[in-house]
Amino acid sequence: MIFTMNLHTRETARFAIKTRIADYLADGGGFFGGFDALVRDRGVLPVCYDFRILYFVDPEGDVFRCDLPYESPVLIATDTWSDRMWVYLHGRDQVPELAAFIPERQPGFPDCPLCRGTGKFTVGGRVILDGTVDCLRCGSLGWVLD
Ligand SMILES: [Zn+2]
Repeated sequence: MIFTMNLHTRETARFAIKTRIADYLADGGGFFGGFDALVRDRGVLPVCYDFRILYFVDPEGDVFRCDLPYESPVLIATDTWSDRMWVYLHGRDQVPELAAFIPERQPGFPDCPLCRGTGKFTVGGRVILDGTVDCLRCGSLGWVLD
């Protein structure tokens, strides 16, 4: 079971993302550097990656993906709930305020039926691959909206 506590608001998240976009453009972005044109022109911030996909967020919490190759990067909006939750969870290493975009779990929200609340990829109810692969249904939250 994964619990999250939102210490941040969407307003602090918006401010944090805008500030980090300005910092990115000023200092080159560090580990996620090399995407200055996307960051500047589209107003997005790279926050995490998974295999060959780099994920970005904008100040409103909208999530975008950029698939390899990165030589001519193309941003693709992702509206999938599980993808957005995954990016908010894992992007917190870069932007802790992203937690504000994760809904508070309500009493009626069940454990994820696919991972049975573990947040990890499972087969037959057993976590496999040492838990290194996240659940595709809940984005590793461990619960779903319905
Ligand atoms: Zn799940």
